[in-house]
Amino acid sequence: MSDAIRSRALHERTRLRLAMKSWQGDEYGSCNQCGEMIAPGRLEFDPAASLCIACATGNESR
Ligand SMILES: [Zn+2]
Repeated sequence: MSDAIRSRALHERTRLRLAMKSWQGDEYGSCNQCGEMIAPGRLEFDPAASLCIACATGNESR
């Protein structure tokens, strides 16, 4: 395994662990910013996603 791939894998694992931590409780699946549910497809694509698509892309609906 090359160093680049190794550090990338480590980084991803750390990110996931941090995300898991912030999900303790019933936060999982809802946006950290607006509280809307995050689309299941988005969570499947990026299990560490903490923002809904609208917030992640900067299109906050107000
Ligand atoms: Zn949001």
